[in-house]
Amino acid sequence: MTVSTFDLDRQTEPLVLTCEKCDTSVQLLGDQTAVDTDMIKADWEAEHRHCGDSPELKHWDAMSQAIPHTQFGLEQQIGPRPSWSDPSNDKVGGLIPSYGSSTARTHLSLHNGLPTGDTYTPAYVSVCARLRSTVNGGPVVGMTTHKYYDGEWLRRGTALTPDEARHHAALLVAAADLAESEIGGSC
Ligand SMILES: [Zn+2]
Repeated sequence: MTVSTFDLDRQTEPLVLTCEKCDTSVQLLGDQTAVDTDMIKADWEAEHRHCGDSPELKHWDAMSQAIPHTQFGLEQQIGPRPSWSDPSNDKVGGLIPSYGSSTARTHLSLHNGLPTGDTYTPAYVSVCARLRSTVNGGPVVGMTTHKYYDGEWLRRGTALTPDEARHHAALLVAAADLAESEIGGSC
């Protein structure tokens, strides 16, 4: 596509727009302003952008631009945002979207972390509260282990119902008490 050259300051010159691909041209008698001219040229270019494309390419463009409307906001998928949520910890667009709270960590000193220069990022477990849609479980506790191994962080995530999380926490305390119950004494 070519647009005839002309001086924008000389508004009385006729504007001729030509599309060589479909062999169409129009001539606009020149009383439009420079802004009008830019808009007319942009419209013309948009209209003729796909002139000369093959039928197969036009078909492909039409199909590939028909994006399924599966992208809703979290409000539509889950409901109102809880006041405790941290938007930077939302899960959006994955299989199970959710609102997330800020994340708390427990270090895992018995596993490998990442040494970087003078600093060391230990392995850790991250925990957060999440709210999913009702069909995906509603309120859950997210728990993910992060261990550095063979050049990359290995992450293993788990979601627990609130009752499972409370039971798990009680088990951890009971197991810790048990493990320490016979050290430093009579042995
Ligand atoms: Zn054209």
